[in-house]
Amino acid sequence: MTKYEKMEKELLNEKKSSWIKKGTDGKKQAFQFSEQYRRFLSHVKTERENVREVTAMAEKKGFLPLKELGKKKGHKKFYDVNQEKNLVLIVLGQKPVTEGVNIIASHVDVPHIDFKMNPLYEDEEYCMVKTHYYGGIKKYQWVNLPLAVHGVIIKKDGQKIDVVWGEDESEGVLTFPDVLPHLSRKIQGEKKLLTGFTGEDLNMICGSIPVADEKVKNKIKISILEILHEKYGVTEADFISAELQLVPSGAARWVGFDKGLLGAFGHDDRICGYTSSMALFNIDDPEYTAVNFLADKEEIGSEGRSGMQSWFVLRVLSELIAFQENGFNDLLLRKALERSHALSSDVGAGINPNFKSVHDPLNAPRLGYGIVLTKYTGSGGKGGSNDADAEFVARVRRIWDENGVDWQIGTLGKVDEGGGGTVAKFLAEYNMDVVDAGPALLSMHAPFELASVIDIYSCYEAYKTFFEKMK
Ligand code: MN
Ligand code: MN
Repeated sequence: MTKYEKMEKELLNEKKSSWIKKGTDGKKQAFQFSEQYRRFLSHVKTERENVREVTAMAEKKGFLPLKELGKKKGHKKFYDVNQEKNLVLIVLGQKPVTEGVNIIASHVDVPHIDFKMNPLYEDEEYCMVKTHYYGGIKKYQWVNLPLAVHGVIIKKDGQKIDVVWGEDESEGVLTFPDVLPHLSRKIQGEKKLLTGFTGEDLNMICGSIPVADEKVKNKIKISILEILHEKYGVTEADFISAELQLVPSGAARWVGFDKGLLGAFGHDDRICGYTSSMALFNIDDPEYTAVNFLADKEEIGSEGRSGMQSWFVLRVLSELIAFQENGFNDLLLRKALERSHALSSDVGAGINPNFKSVHDPLNAPRLGYGIVLTKYTGSGGKGGSNDADAEFVARVRRIWDENGVDWQIGTLGKVDEGGGGTVAKFLAEYNMDVVDAGPALLSMHAPFELASVIDIYSCYEAYKTFFEKMK
């Protein structure tokens, strides 16, 4: 090989070192791992369901509730749950927490459509549901789909009712009926794509058969309320204290004749949550304490008590410090935070063959090239971005290279094309090292998002390496 051939091999755009080159074992492992993830996504569709499922997995792996800290001598694996929507998993390291911890933080909320507080009304011969969308959706993508309802209803006496309706084929789904093409020339044809539907337009059909009682005025609405009362014992007022999410009904599916892609609702950001939790489950006795954080409400700005801006993570770390140091003061916590390292694990936008023009091909990630290291996000000149320190980016790429992780770089689209943010900047407020890293997707925020089987497994390896090797 000549000097120039060697140099060419090191060029960034030649950096596709996936399991395709590693051989068939890697491929088998990646598919087995991703098939488990596919099954997870097929039934886990809300942040509460995600937290509940991962908590159950953690308990099976020997993780104990944080309140058990110190009760079983030498036990290192703990978890804590916040508001059923926010989970932290911990594996205590050889060094004390005051030396800093390695955090991987993702989010388990997903853009979807919520019921309004007073959702039911009759129109023509239908019972309809009024909705309010959550997060950045393109509304036209959510019409004509079979939608299931997942969530909880809390009755006035505090009783909590779990709802999953519309996943079983024996149950009816909800849907938004679009206008037929024959008659849509003016009402839709003259509108712009993204404003074709407004938020108030997204009213779903949930019923059509009236009760047989001439004295009743709201015959169809009453018939729907009767069905809900029979199944859940709820009345119309109980919608006020409910969290009911409309999500695509049905299973996640492999995409392509080769099944190289996984299509699903909720990759953003369950893909990072799942792969980082699996990574944490498979580390043992790390040098630094490993913390896996599944946040809620990222899609609406990380606000709220289960979002990344909540004090929950600080309380958990404080508790660990208080136990290890036989006491607590604020300075210990601040030093621990400053000495910590974090990956904000969230998804990026891969080059879509149908819409290449929105990307800078030199800096855009591609599906199948491994986890994406993203120094900065933001929009309009890095606005609202963490913009990680070059020193920390260097340390992350070094440990990944040293441990054979498939990774690539990526930025979100062309400079002035648009943009977005992650939880990175909220972790950075604690003055810790933090950089974004997660897989690239196609169709991000759509009811059916695409991820590569190569990248799913690469994320698992990258996160495991981070927990084990970052110092
Ligand atoms: Mn995300
Ligand atoms: Mn998102």
